[in-house]
Amino acid sequence: MIVTSWNQLHKDILNCTACPLHQGIRHKVAGQGDPNATVMIVGEGPGAQEDLKGIAFIGAAGELLTKMLAAIHIDRKDVYISNVIKCRPPNNRTPTMQECNQCLPFLRQQFALVRPQIMLLMGSTALKALLSPELTITKSRGKWVERKGIWMLPTYHPAALLRDPAKKIEAWHDMQLLESKLKELDSLI
Ligand code: SF4
Repeated sequence: MIVTSWNQLHKDILNCTACPLHQGIRHKVAGQGDPNATVMIVGEGPGAQEDLKGIAFIGAAGELLTKMLAAIHIDRKDVYISNVIKCRPPNNRTPTMQECNQCLPFLRQQFALVRPQIMLLMGSTALKALLSPELTITKSRGKWVERKGIWMLPTYHPAALLRDPAKKIEAWHDMQLLESKLKELDSLI
């Protein structure tokens, strides 16, 4: 993979028409945050608010993510936040694996530019696209997976927590795992 610059990457995302999802959107949502972050957060794709503003993880789910990070003393601006796909699917439907695979090179470029030590995979789409389509979020959440020195932690998407608040207990456990891993990595330096 040839790693481009942030400018080139954002231009490439803006101009992409590789799958039908670009039709009818208001904004592409590339992602944002600290370009040198230790933690990269990956969700599914833009929802209505994100599509409107062109920013990842805003609206109610985004606010919850900000609170979840703050609870483990992470300022949202210190992580890099993105999604598997950069265009909002019609009616917020789940993107197909084909659409995910079409868009994944952009996420890989973001990963190569940020070079995080930890990836938080939020929700089933991020889990399936980045680890394996065979996995389910209920069985995989809260279990670290190490790939080429990168620590990946699947957990629920904040939108799922809003739909089913009972899941917040497990999500809190996952955030504590993230906090512990950050301390562990910090102590290795
Ligand atoms: S979802 Fe990704 S691959 Fe599809 S058009 Fe948008 S940017 Fe391109």
